[in-house]
Amino acid sequence: MTCTVRIPTPLRHLAGGRDAVEVADGTVADVLDHLDRECDGIHDRIRDDGGSVRRFVNVFVDGDDIRTLEGLSTVVREGAVVSIVPAIAGGAPDWRACLEELKSTVPQVTVAEVRSMRERGEDFVLIDVREAEENRRGRIPGGQHISRGFLEMKIEEAVPDHGAKIVVHCAGGVRSLLAAQSLRRLGYADVSSMAGGFEQWQRDGLPVEVPAGLDEADMDRYQRHISIPEVGVQGQVKLLESRVLLIGAGGLGCPAGYYLAAAGVGTIGIVDGDVVDLTNLQRQILHTADRVGMAKTESARRTLVALNPGIEVVPIHQRLTSANVGEIFDGWDLVVDGSDNFPTRYLVNDACVKFGIPCVHGSVYRFEGQVTVFKTPEGPCYRCLYPEPPPPGMAPSCADAGVLGVLPGVIGLLEAVEAVKLILGLGDTLVGRLLQYDALRAEFRELRIRRDPNCAYCAEGVEFPGFIDYEHFCASSHSTVSV
Ligand SMILES: [Zn+2]
Repeated sequence: MTCTVRIPTPLRHLAGGRDAVEVADGTVADVLDHLDRECDGIHDRIRDDGGSVRRFVNVFVDGDDIRTLEGLSTVVREGAVVSIVPAIAGGAPDWRACLEELKSTVPQVTVAEVRSMRERGEDFVLIDVREAEENRRGRIPGGQHISRGFLEMKIEEAVPDHGAKIVVHCAGGVRSLLAAQSLRRLGYADVSSMAGGFEQWQRDGLPVEVPAGLDEADMDRYQRHISIPEVGVQGQVKLLESRVLLIGAGGLGCPAGYYLAAAGVGTIGIVDGDVVDLTNLQRQILHTADRVGMAKTESARRTLVALNPGIEVVPIHQRLTSANVGEIFDGWDLVVDGSDNFPTRYLVNDACVKFGIPCVHGSVYRFEGQVTVFKTPEGPCYRCLYPEPPPPGMAPSCADAGVLGVLPGVIGLLEAVEAVKLILGLGDTLVGRLLQYDALRAEFRELRIRRDPNCAYCAEGVEFPGFIDYEHFCASSHSTVSV
């Protein structure tokens, strides 16, 4: 004596693709047992460990819900049709039903159990299947991270032993259910999902590891840096620990400082003795119209800390001189030169040579700019290139030279890029190369520049000649372009 059991689409893979199966009759419970013999595993999908019909499944006998009959004891007569109807939404398996099903088929462990497994020294692998960004914001110490998207591809390498005890976790306990199910399908025999995930772990006040040097806000702010393998958390920490001195808060110093602050250079010093003038605003983007008359260093500081309150900006409202250069240059890793006159250029160069500080050099003139890195002894210094300034009158004065307002943006940012590369120790810097930019032709040209073996300041074995009277040396305090 048999009856017909109609198999719903989500379970047909357990029935060899059949939509109906003939089984021996009896009670509904008997029929489901018979069905399980035909379709291995289907019983668990329909009934829970206690034997009840799962709450997301309904069973009908000849069109009547067994809950309105006698439940599992309902008698199924010969020739009757038993329909199994799981919850389905919109033509696809209902997510909540899937989740309930996963919860019923994948073993789960609580956070407390994982903790005591650890305390007992139990041998198991804890795998964090959250995204890399989530892992970087904080993780359970001693866990292994494999993003859900790479789990199937990477698990063999991470856990070669299919018999190993594995606990997977995610943020809240859902993705880890899917992950655990997938691992079980791959043949891992002892896989469980940590209920509640990392969030529960945190709520329970258990130890969480955050990569050194970066708090959660930093992990968010610098996420796009941290995602670059060449930068990562270590690189960001380096940036935050770095100290960069900007010479000038003008056309070059403004864009360079803006991006260095955004990038998280932890301490930015700004030397400038000027105040904001209306004519500056065509290119000096840290300043604003309502700050005309304010010290440029203070105006720059306000803009930079508004952008990134996590950094320190040190305003040095002074004109750089031979008398104060020793004190001002003390303790900086890097100088970004955006000065606007020859005396300062030479003074900055000489001080960088003396104190062994790399100097990122930029300059602009109307539609042209140039940028390089002076770093001795690997490359030349400014004096190797130009042992002497042009005589007065040979260089245009600040009043009539002029500069296209966007050009210092380009050059200042090239300086910022070089500064970041130097801090991170990445790539090929412009040491020994002078990059020229012609805005009108939209062309970059590169010139190779070499050390002068007879340079009075940086040649090997030369004793530092001392700071000089740079104003006198250049014979004019504004002998070149004002940026
Ligand atoms: Zn030199």
